[in-house]
Amino acid sequence: MNAPIAYPHETAPAPGVAVPVAPGIEWLCMPLPFALNHINLWLLADGDGYAAVDTGFALDPVKQAWQSALAGRRREFAEHGSAPAPVGDSAMSPRASTGGRRLTRCIVTHCHPDHLGLAAWLEQETGAGLWIAQGEYLAAHMMVEQIAGYRISVMVDFFRSHGLDEARIDALVARGNGYKRGVPEIPATYRRLFDDQLLKVGDHEWRTIVGHGHAPEHMSLYCAELGVLISGDMLLPRISTNISVMASTPYSDPLGLFLDSIDKFRALPEDTLVLPSHGRPFRGLHARVEQLHAHHAERCEVLLAACKDQPRSAAELIAVLFNREIPDPHQTMFAMGEAIAHLNYLEHAGKLKRIEENGLVRYIR
Ligand SMILES: [Zn+2]
Repeated sequence: MNAPIAYPHETAPAPGVAVPVAPGIEWLCMPLPFALNHINLWLLADGDGYAAVDTGFALDPVKQAWQSALAGRRREFAEHGSAPAPVGDSAMSPRASTGGRRLTRCIVTHCHPDHLGLAAWLEQETGAGLWIAQGEYLAAHMMVEQIAGYRISVMVDFFRSHGLDEARIDALVARGNGYKRGVPEIPATYRRLFDDQLLKVGDHEWRTIVGHGHAPEHMSLYCAELGVLISGDMLLPRISTNISVMASTPYSDPLGLFLDSIDKFRALPEDTLVLPSHGRPFRGLHARVEQLHAHHAERCEVLLAACKDQPRSAAELIAVLFNREIPDPHQTMFAMGEAIAHLNYLEHAGKLKRIEENGLVRYIR
């Protein structure tokens, strides 16, 4: 029996307020302009400064929050075993700081805009260089520069072939390059991170754990000594991570890759403190891995039932998969990607057959 999921913090910190969550680790919560309205970033004590894990979406309020956070002084984690420091208080007055904090580097888990968005700005402002996996760095350039299968036009053709109607296609085209709004610039150089690499940050050693399915080479970080996993988007406490088939790899099985990837976390101790990119820090990662497997298995059963008697397209199945209509283009993009991911997973497993007729892709049991 797995330990239940538990949250050591009641609430998230206010923007720009760094709150200690473990020795030498502070939590920054930044706003996001979506239904998912925040992202967590982490500051790791790194010699006389801090290494940032992830950077936030390129928005002025996020830059201001960074300025406040860096103006503050270091706050120590409450003694081991005692209650964590109060969350959301503003005891750290930027003005009362003793010279502020230095940023030593930005370790970025993956290329999505809420994670990579301000890496170039932070490098310009603080000199902190980018550390990231090569697959993420290259994918970011493909999306910003609109290259080959990463173009919006290729994406909408792909969704059209999966049954998306012209009204929603038009809305996606009108939305333009949403990625570039979040990542206006990418640092010209980077340090390349690999899987299963030991990374010394301050007094501690972190092991990189590459996962697939959500992004090309998503990097989670695990510190055995502190018992902390920075999970990024690979393990979130309340919502399931978006798993999308991309237009550049239309036959891929990202859901299979994701489920295999999260199984790697089963090897970590049960009481590991998980620091996720969205939602609050939690313990109970084994239970969470189980829940995610069960969630996707249940969604797959629903799709199999819907494809029993007649072939169905991904667009037809969005409402079945999510149990509701998906209104805005931003969510349509995720919903289509996610529906195709489940259908391709079932096809790879031999449970659904893919039919391609007159440019329309459908699936039948
Ligand atoms: Zn992400």
